[in-house]
Amino acid sequence: MVACDERLEKWTLLSSREVAAFAAVGLHTGHDLLEYFPRRHEDRRRFDAFPTMPTSAPVCLRGGVIDATRRRFGSGGGAYEAVVMDGAGGVFGSGKVTFRWFNMPHVHKWIATGHQVIAYGKVKEQSGRLIIDHPEVEIIREGDAMASIHLERIAPIYKNLTGISQHRLREIIYQFLSQACPQSMRQRHPLPVDIPRDVALHHMHFPEQLEQVAQARRQFAREEFFIMQLNVAWRKSRYHQQLGRAIGQRTTSLKQFHANLTFELTDAQKRSIKEIVADLRSTRPMHRLLQGDVGSGKTLVAMAAMLLAIDSNVQAALMAPTQLLAEQHYQTFCRFLTPLGIRILLKTGSQDRQNYEGDAQAAQMIIGTHALLYESVRFSDLGFVVIDEQHKFGVSQRASFIQQGRMPHVLVMTATPIPRTLMMTVYGDLDVSVLDEKPPGRGELTTSLRVNAKQAETTRFVKEQLAQGRQAYLVYPLVEESESLKLESATDGFECWQKRLTKFRVGLIHGKQASEEKDHVMQQFRSGAIAAMVSTSVIEVGVDVANATVMVVHHAERFGLAQLHQLRGRIGRGADHGYCLLLTDSKNADALEKLQVLERTSDGFEIAEADLRLRGPGDVLGKVQSGIASLRFTDLLGDYVLLAEARALADQFLLEDPALSGKHQYWRAWITDLADDSLLPSTA
Ligand code: ADP
Ligand code: MG
Repeated sequence: MVACDERLEKWTLLSSREVAAFAAVGLHTGHDLLEYFPRRHEDRRRFDAFPTMPTSAPVCLRGGVIDATRRRFGSGGGAYEAVVMDGAGGVFGSGKVTFRWFNMPHVHKWIATGHQVIAYGKVKEQSGRLIIDHPEVEIIREGDAMASIHLERIAPIYKNLTGISQHRLREIIYQFLSQACPQSMRQRHPLPVDIPRDVALHHMHFPEQLEQVAQARRQFAREEFFIMQLNVAWRKSRYHQQLGRAIGQRTTSLKQFHANLTFELTDAQKRSIKEIVADLRSTRPMHRLLQGDVGSGKTLVAMAAMLLAIDSNVQAALMAPTQLLAEQHYQTFCRFLTPLGIRILLKTGSQDRQNYEGDAQAAQMIIGTHALLYESVRFSDLGFVVIDEQHKFGVSQRASFIQQGRMPHVLVMTATPIPRTLMMTVYGDLDVSVLDEKPPGRGELTTSLRVNAKQAETTRFVKEQLAQGRQAYLVYPLVEESESLKLESATDGFECWQKRLTKFRVGLIHGKQASEEKDHVMQQFRSGAIAAMVSTSVIEVGVDVANATVMVVHHAERFGLAQLHQLRGRIGRGADHGYCLLLTDSKNADALEKLQVLERTSDGFEIAEADLRLRGPGDVLGKVQSGIASLRFTDLLGDYVLLAEARALADQFLLEDPALSGKHQYWRAWITDLADDSLLPSTA
């Protein structure tokens, strides 16, 4: 019996080369090896029939190689083709499929005529032949003593590991499972379980029925989610132990600001401001997320909070992800706050501006872009920090911004609605305020999907709207023409639209322009001098021009769902009806389904859920930000119950043993104190 916490070197069945191969992917102990879970399973008790036409899903075939050829291409590349026939043990049926590999000069060394193979892949048809490109292939060895773990059973298929074949890996794990001490498997992660951990490990690798895999997966996901949630809960409690400054007792400026408003704050805005005030007045530093769909009025909430801060004589700073947005915020802030005599400074790297006489240090509010991190911005006493569209920043950027202050209160804002499961995962260490209500007096917004639309009709519609004094965005996925993608770009579009809209002024804005140029164009659009703006997704975040009511998105399938929702949030901001046309020539069913979601609903949460379903959590959140890259069970991340249980258990453990030094000390080793991984200053 081998104990699972022993290092793999101790296990005599492994060669030192194999130990090194495992070490290279971070597998050092028996536990690590047993938790190298299969990517999928293949039911090798019965194989799929040889196909007679292309398949939309992968098939699993068993057959013999009857012919194999290497082909060279002029440019130095090459292909290797193996023709495989239906049947086992030399008894062939009639089915025939060609396996094909490109640019893999060594394939011919391991697969050749006469081999019996098991293969997995999607079948396509090309010049009358059925082909699987780059199939996953395993050669069946004759007289294999361990054949019973590879064949006539449900076999695990692992992620390929350099230096160890699929076949050998399966053998190693099988042997390890049979020789490892069950007791030591059970000691790992001592959580309440449905089935003993050693049994679950067997089921995970060598199940008798596929249902056993599903059950075991849930159990291991529970472990994994627990560790993740424990880390999140730990960070939150650590953050709350820090001593911050109680501010926000004086409300002179806030009252004045409120009195000057020409409209009422929404109930959601009032509620959020109250929540923030309570946080500021406590010595626990605030660590709050303000979440609200596009146009829900987050800026004013941030402004109110910043006013409270400066009334307590600390500086307040707001960081926005684009120059365009920082500029716009500066203007908005000046409009509302210059009458109150508040000193505001804009820092964007290309230019600084201020609404007062005096030096930068005298600023009460500082608004800027990433420049706030890199430039020699010297804050005199930064006590309150706001990060707008926070998902656009990297973790370390957020952290280094926060570190410019002395335990500042932190408000992060996002317009990306997040399904509650992911909320718990990614923002689990934050308190959350939600703006679930839009300011009144907003026009309706109609979104229409146009597949293969006639240009003349689109042009006519845009012209009609412009003639009524409205403005339009004409959005493209790319700035310049690209050779690989045959898409019309913003610069092409600009020329075309100038010809189409001869009576109107058309502008162009994209990320590659100099910032002065961007500012200039945006200014003219805001003032109405430019009627139609050809743009890329630079206008995605935050841009606020109330008279713009039309948006045409070209090649809409190229954008993400959440991104399109953000984009269309740019229109219908005033009282007039907004129209968003999503143009596509795509025939892809998934792409069309995605776009139809936008036609159907304007509810940010519903869209977020759909996005999660269609793309998976890693893509939705960006792996760096979420830290979910290391998770093995991301497909179960949508399981709210599973996650909520994990969180509840984590909270309970920390309540019982806040420092994880007593009854739950086992778990202390599973806390990763990555300064970079949280909003905590690194000194913590
Ligand atoms: P977002 O949440 O997308 O950042 P903004 O803060 O840009 O939204 O607000 C969108 C628009 O709504 C702005 O023009 C803002 O001045 C306006 N607004 C915000 N709150 C209210 C309110 N309570 N009543 C009317 N208009 C509001
Ligand atoms: Mg905003």
